[in-house]
Order: sequence, then structure tokens, then C-alpha cells
Amino acid sequence: MIDILSLTLGELEGILLSKGYEKYRARQIFAFLYKQKVDDFSLITVLKKDAREQLSREFFIYPLKVKSISIGNDGAKKYLFELLDGSLIESVLIPMDNGKFTICVSTQVGCMMGCKFCATGRMGFKRNLTASEIVGQVRYILKDNSLRIANVVYMGMGEPLDNYNNVIKSMLIMMEEAGLDISKRRMTLSTCGITPTLERLKKDLPYINLALSLHSAVPEKRSIIMPINKKYPLEDILNVLKDFPVPRRKRITFEYVMIKGLNDTREDIKALARIMSNLKSKLNLIPLNKHDLIGTKFEPTPVSDIEKFAQQLRDKGIFVTIRKSKGSDISAACGMLATKAS
Ligand code: SAH
Ligand code: SF4
Repeated sequence: MIDILSLTLGELEGILLSKGYEKYRARQIFAFLYKQKVDDFSLITVLKKDAREQLSREFFIYPLKVKSISIGNDGAKKYLFELLDGSLIESVLIPMDNGKFTICVSTQVGCMMGCKFCATGRMGFKRNLTASEIVGQVRYILKDNSLRIANVVYMGMGEPLDNYNNVIKSMLIMMEEAGLDISKRRMTLSTCGITPTLERLKKDLPYINLALSLHSAVPEKRSIIMPINKKYPLEDILNVLKDFPVPRRKRITFEYVMIKGLNDTREDIKALARIMSNLKSKLNLIPLNKHDLIGTKFEPTPVSDIEKFAQQLRDKGIFVTIRKSKGSDISAACGMLATKAS
């Protein structure tokens, strides 16, 4: 049985042709799967009954099961999904101030990067998600909330560039205008910086929005909180970013979780200014979310100090924003997506 939500339009066309269908049927099926969001081939009414039956013998529509939905005070809605093998993943629907919505998707069950402050990192790695399990999160949440469109951020559980092929494929599927029709400009990939796949991304999907989990501009400190920095040093990542094609009027985002006494000192301001001054970038300061899995080793920088830190950087000409972390009251803020049950 073929997992139909893991196919690009081109792939579906090829398979249908080889089975004796007309090519244009693929577009019709895509519209039913992604615009109407049907979960059963019998509902694809543009096809004759025997064609629908044949489809359901050869393909399946991946059934994402919702275990629970929690809604935070600020409106962020966290979905706990159960996959076919029983693994649990989470996604979040975040209402934006401008009335639009953002969906934060997971790309792996767990994560093997082991960042010290991250709940997902503390739970370890189980497996990569398939393209259909990634696309399915967006399809499900759009349908559940009667939304036609949303921004999609790859900031849930997992490291997207450690599941490169499936992540790229999920983007191509979501970009298909016969289906969800979500443009690249609406998608943001967040990574801890896996240099070889970051290099590939430049060629495969230029002009996508990019966020780098920086967290320290001082290499020794970055290696302490993000062990992956020893394998893929910041210096090499920055080299790849130098000519990364970003969408018009957009900048590469550096995400920076503020940890008291660790990455909020004068040395850090200097190091940030040095690496950012010659890159079209912006710094997004994120108050550290505390979580059981992180323990008491790391404390958040007080809000007033975050503001001072931001101001000192602005004085040096750096573009800085401070993230109001949505959903922290229900553990739905990105970076807090870890389920003890899995
Ligand atoms: N693996 C990717 C994407 C998922 S993490 C990456 O690291 O970029 C999404 C964001 O949440 C990252 O910037 C991550 O550093 C941040 N994050 C992780 N733990 C956090 C915490 N405890 N508090 C606040 N943000 C956190
Ligand atoms: Fe993985 Fe990102 Fe968490 Fe690091 S911050 S452990 S890369 S999910």
C-alpha cells in the first residue's frame, strides 16, 4: 500500500499513469486530499466508484490520531498526535497578533542533537517522521480549525536537517498549488546548523525563511550547551549562511534562548555584534522556558536584563526582537515539545 500523503504531485502523476489512469486525475485527487481534506477515498466524488475502490486498494491516507488537545491562555493550541507505530508527537497552532495563524510542526520523534536546555533534546531520539507524518500535522490542524492557510514553522520536536529528504519533500508537497498551496515565503526551517545539509538546502530550496538556533556566538560556550557545535562548528555554519538566498525584505533569524549568567554577558554582546554585523540577519531573543527535563541547571535571564541586552545590541546596529513565547503555560512553546509518554 502506498502512503499517498507522502507523494508529490509529480510522483502521484507518474504512479497513476503507470496504473493506466489519466495524468490529470492526480490534480483532482490532490484537491480532494488537501483542499477538501477528505480522509477516505470513497469521498473523492469526481472519480467513478470502481476507480475509488481501486485507489483504496493501492493507496492509504495516513491516519493521524489525536490523543489530546490543550489550549493555553494566549490561545495557543497544542495537539498530541499518535502515529501508526504508537509514537507520540506534538504540533502547535499559534494565533498571531495580525489575526493570522502559525503551525509549528515536528520532524522527528525526539532529537539526537542533545542541546542541554531543550526538553526534546533531553528525551533522546526515536525515529524520523515520514513526509506524510509532517504534512499530516498541517493538514489535520487546518481542517480541525477550518483554516485555509497558515504559516508553517519547522520548530517542533526534532532537527529538520537531520531528516533532510522527508522534510524537503513535505515542503514540496505543501507548496503544491493543486493542494495546500502554502508558498515558501510562509515556511520557516529552524536548525541547529548541520553544515552539509544546510549547503544542500541552498540549492534545493533557496528563498525559504531560515532560522538558526545560535544560542551563543562564543564557540566554547556554544559547544557546552549545543554538543553538535563540536561536529559542525559555528564558523563553518556562518560561512554557508553568508550567501544563503533569503526572501525579499527578509533576514536570517538567529534564535537565542537567554540563559542567566551563561550567554547574557558583555562578552556575548561583543561576539554577537561581531558575527552579525556582516550578515543580513536579525536576533530573536527567547526567554528560556523551564521544564522538568532541564532541571535547575539553567535559569532564565530576567526580563529586564533581556531588554537591556537587546538595547545594547541595537546600539551596535543589530536588529533585535524579543519573543513573547506563546503557549508556555501548556508546555506548547517551541522547544518544550517533549512527551514523557513516548
Ligand atoms: N531542532 C531545531 C528546531 C526545533 S527547536 C532547532 O534547534 O532549531 C525550536 C526552537 O526552540 C529552537 O530555537 C530551540 O533552541 C528553542 N528551544 C529549545 N529549548 C528551549 C527552551 N527550554 N526554552 C526556549 N526555547 C527553547
Ligand atoms: Fe534538537 Fe533543536 Fe532541541 Fe537542539 S534545540 S535538541 S536541535 S530540537
